[in-house]
Amino acid sequence: MTFKEVQGFLAQINSYMQLSLKEVQLLQTPNAVLRQTLMVSGKKYPAFRVQFNNARGPYKGGIRFHSDVSLDEVKSLSFWMALKTAIVDVPFGGAKGGITVDPKGLSAKELQQLSRGYVRAFYKQLGSKRDIPAPDVNTNPQIMAWMLDEYEKLTGVRAPGMITGKPLELGGSRLRDIATALGGVYILEEALQKIQIGPKTVVIQGFGNVGMNMAQILHARGFKIVGVSDSNGGIVNHNGLDIAKVVQIKKETGSVVNYLHAQRVTNEKLLTTHCSILIPSALGGVITTENMKLLNTSVILELANGPVAADADDFLFEQKIVVIPDVLANAGGVTVSYFEWVQNNSGLYWTDEEVAQRLEEKMKSAFRNVYNQWQAKPYSLRTAAYIYGLSKILAAERLRGRV
Ligand code: NAD
Repeated sequence: MTFKEVQGFLAQINSYMQLSLKEVQLLQTPNAVLRQTLMVSGKKYPAFRVQFNNARGPYKGGIRFHSDVSLDEVKSLSFWMALKTAIVDVPFGGAKGGITVDPKGLSAKELQQLSRGYVRAFYKQLGSKRDIPAPDVNTNPQIMAWMLDEYEKLTGVRAPGMITGKPLELGGSRLRDIATALGGVYILEEALQKIQIGPKTVVIQGFGNVGMNMAQILHARGFKIVGVSDSNGGIVNHNGLDIAKVVQIKKETGSVVNYLHAQRVTNEKLLTTHCSILIPSALGGVITTENMKLLNTSVILELANGPVAADADDFLFEQKIVVIPDVLANAGGVTVSYFEWVQNNSGLYWTDEEVAQRLEEKMKSAFRNVYNQWQAKPYSLRTAAYIYGLSKILAAERLRGRV
């Protein structure tokens, strides 16, 4: 979604919130837009950090390395981070960072130089009590480790809480690697207490960090996974896929399509496969006005960021397809990032069970809060989540006397 579309959606929601002009402007404007050009091996790479809002706590948000990264995209993502941290009630604001680069074209040495260069460019604006980055698309625990090391070299202090998504050896949290999927499972379980759907059949688009973990956890909990896909295409078996085998095939051959006990389908067809729960876990903008009428599901759990295009949302609402929005459904990652920051600051580290139990509490309570905002209202669960999150940001802003 472009930042203009984000602003448009905010204006639309305001018909339910009746905010003052000053409040709307505050919610439509990032606090700070930082940009620099990084040089590696004689090539220039545009780098961004957008700090959207910090009324509720230090800025928080990942860093994306991708050739499509633009300032506009980083702005939208930073807004969503502010919303997500408010919805799951962690004491952070929202930010996002990115570098316009195709990391596959870099050597390991260049990748390290670029990661360190990002920190050198922005380190004065980062910090455990200021702005805390994390991984996002194409960034990982190793990159977080380089960034932490660069920050500590520049500042001369040990500061593990300045970045999350670190390797365990450098202060990372247990379960951070599966946190987004596990958080999505807790949200889904809570949703199914309220929404009746019949047999729990699931289709998952994307089989990376989020999609693969989601398939494994749901399969272990008795859901029937009837279709999955990756960038090479999809596979469907209405009797259920053997997920352990699909994971093995994906690891051995690089793609789920080499699993033989299923029908091969295109990614477009996968999205319209009959199921009760559809879980987009790959890209943004995959459900559009082109395919929305062909969907064959009762619930869409948005684990990817922005998989339902803005103009398809109203139609799904009219069709009574429940869309559990990304700002709620995929907030497990930032929630465990918060746990990591708490552990770093206290120096006391938690077990798998402690992290899972705290994550479950946070996610289920966030779902209930958004659901209460939504019940019997003439708008979608996404609108309810936005109203709930934005109200919390504004409450903090009002207490600070900024609006
Ligand atoms: P990933 O790179 O590990 O996996 C992406 C998967 O999508 C891969 O299996 C890839 O083959 C597949 N894919 C790519 N193009 C596709 C296409 N056209 N059709 C079907 N599949 C395709 O990424 P990830 O970390 O799993 O993130 C997936 C989504 O979840 C992204 O939208 C990301 O922003 C969102 N998300 C991730 C996290 C996290 O903690 N990793 C947190 C919040 C949101």
